[in-house]
Amino acid sequence: RALGKRFSIGTRFSAEGRRTVHAVDNVSLTVRRGETVGLVGESGCGKSTLARCLVRLYDISDGQLIFEGDDITGKSLAELRPLRRRLQMVFQDPSASLNPRRRVGDLVAEPLRIHTKLSSAEIARRVAELFDLVGLLPDHVMRYPHEFSGGQRQRVGIARAIALNPDLVVLDEPVSALDVSVQAQIVNLLADLQEKLNLTYVFIAHDLSVVRQVSTRIAVMYLGSIVEEGPAEEVFATPAHPYSQALISAVPIVETTPGGMRKRIILTGDVPSPLKPPPGCRFHPRCPVAQDRCRTERPQVRDFRPGRKVACHFPVAS
Ligand code: SF4
Ligand code: MG
Repeated sequence: RALGKRFSIGTRFSAEGRRTVHAVDNVSLTVRRGETVGLVGESGCGKSTLARCLVRLYDISDGQLIFEGDDITGKSLAELRPLRRRLQMVFQDPSASLNPRRRVGDLVAEPLRIHTKLSSAEIARRVAELFDLVGLLPDHVMRYPHEFSGGQRQRVGIARAIALNPDLVVLDEPVSALDVSVQAQIVNLLADLQEKLNLTYVFIAHDLSVVRQVSTRIAVMYLGSIVEEGPAEEVFATPAHPYSQALISAVPIVETTPGGMRKRIILTGDVPSPLKPPPGCRFHPRCPVAQDRCRTERPQVRDFRPGRKVACHFPVAS
């Protein structure tokens, strides 16, 4: 939690795959050690792209990625190697990210074989320890991914991701592919591991009730940009950006909040293509409170109040 120990990503970058996809633009996100930043937004808004940029699975063509004060934006794969172990990712669909022909013990051992000089016996011991940490049984190591349930497969994915004691784990919708009954178990496991291992998370989800449970801070993305950021409880209680308001209004309120029911705001229209975003505020075609200025002038991210940022000309004051 010490200041300066943080991961941040600078503005205006795009991911380069087979073609350049400007899916993420004008984003600045700082993640402090030990916290969980929830990244939310509709599908297609660039959450996964940003996640892959954070762990440098995508190249960043324009912008800056700072890791503990070090600019790692332009580092080559070889230069990134020592860092790679400190930045890990858990994917939405564990079946797609686990090689079906390898035993799960092997899959969890793989990062240890690649990145450490541990002996086979030490690796076996570490794998057993990891299985125990994520709630799998010792004899599970000999099984293949298809012999497991979705939740167990995600436990394997998590064991793999934490094998090297990473500093940052980016969780890209880690529970959305799971049955609701299993989701809570995995969320609790992630919370336990965070506490035990002092992990830092970026937790991506479109399900806001999950994000609310786990996040210290949240960042709301719309069409490739972060439109609001702040302490999770504050943003949930008093969202300032009209888009956050609409997203949050769709979350069922479990506890009784003072002031009673929240009015549900239904957004109309589809999310426009990030390759051809609307001029001015990217949200203006769908914004219930848009004004003339919004159609021409793009709002910059600014401090709305201490610890809270918003990119809107007319944030909702409450
Ligand atoms: Fe709505 Fe204007 Fe704010 Fe954009 S800048 S969210 S259009 S009020
Ligand atoms: Mg995604």
